[in-house]
Amino acid sequence: MGIVLGVTAALMVLRLAGELFLSALNRAEVRRHAGSVPPAAAAIMDPDTYAKAVAYTLEKSRFGVLTGIFDTLVLALVIFGSVLPGLFAVVAAWGAPGAVWSHALFLLIAGALLSVPSLPFEWWEQFRLEEKFGFNKSTASLWVADKLKGLALMFVIGFPLLCALLALVKWAGDAWWLWGFGLVFGFQLLMLVLYPKLILPLFNKLTPLPEGELRVRLLALGDRTGFRASTIEVIDGSKRSGHSNAYFTGFGRFRRIVLFDTLIAQLTPEELKAVLAHEIGHYRRGHIPKMIALSAAMLLGGFGVIAWLSRSSWFNASFGFPAHEVAPSFLLFALLSGLVTFWFSPLSNLLSRKHEYEADAFAREAVGGAGPMIGALRKLAQKNLSNLTPHPWFSAFFYSHPTLVEREAGLAKN
Ligand SMILES: [Zn+2]
Repeated sequence: MGIVLGVTAALMVLRLAGELFLSALNRAEVRRHAGSVPPAAAAIMDPDTYAKAVAYTLEKSRFGVLTGIFDTLVLALVIFGSVLPGLFAVVAAWGAPGAVWSHALFLLIAGALLSVPSLPFEWWEQFRLEEKFGFNKSTASLWVADKLKGLALMFVIGFPLLCALLALVKWAGDAWWLWGFGLVFGFQLLMLVLYPKLILPLFNKLTPLPEGELRVRLLALGDRTGFRASTIEVIDGSKRSGHSNAYFTGFGRFRRIVLFDTLIAQLTPEELKAVLAHEIGHYRRGHIPKMIALSAAMLLGGFGVIAWLSRSSWFNASFGFPAHEVAPSFLLFALLSGLVTFWFSPLSNLLSRKHEYEADAFAREAVGGAGPMIGALRKLAQKNLSNLTPHPWFSAFFYSHPTLVEREAGLAKN
């Protein structure tokens, strides 16, 4: 048992060391280029914007060091301080022995409590850091309302789902993890469809892109590229942040494209067409089902591991929980699996970056040239104060999108 705790502690130290090392490497690289703007960056940002982007990158990175250390300390305290077994003993006792609802409630209460320590940091990031660089558009009351709504949703959706899952564990015996996977995967597919209709409206307003030339041109592009859409939606991202984005959600008949209002304000119609074509590219190149299949495989693997751990005599016991209780195994897995999966993030990011190159190439074909896409990417980098000179190891590890310089090189290739 001592071995399990020792390995857990070592994994915590290793992950934190990895994070700190990579971010120090990245800051050094950014500072190295801060004085003399590299030619590739000079073509994208004027000197003032570049200096601001450097300052923003460095400040965010230093803030990340602080939160990384703090989060690790909190995790260590929770795991080694026997906080959770105490909570489990109390909450599980609210129900009859083996009751499903009290175990589900334990998971939700633990999740809610564990999110509390980082709240001051989230506040600081939004109202100090983002504010300083002009990105914060949120207010204190909106921020608090968001947190409360998030918490309420966690209980309203999480409680029945966890009850169903834990009931399945009792009913299905050793093979519960296959059934559990089916339940949660089905739920995820359902949420892909329901999220924009039921949950997103609680936080944001979605409006169809108004009639007019832009809408006509974007819908014509959709028709031409095999993505017949009846509507393109605009989300009021400007309610919280000046950062801009576009994204694609859903699948099959439920697919939809959402543009941030900030994006529409920043780009020309030609550039917006290129961004839309990029999003359609993700759809047409089959990235959506690929990513859904990949996450399903990870989910199945995760459930398999939880089933194996909860059956073992050592896992729960090492952390002070009664053996063979599945709910504590779920919680421990949720808290600790990141210590291992962290080291695999370069792999999933590699796949994600491959998809970005493919979608960029699709956009270039669809709008008849690389110009509009490059124009859009440059403006987004300027407006979002993107880091134009990340350290190659840092971007390889953490970036889900290639750097701007890499994307321009990709677009320039045949
Ligand atoms: Zn993309």
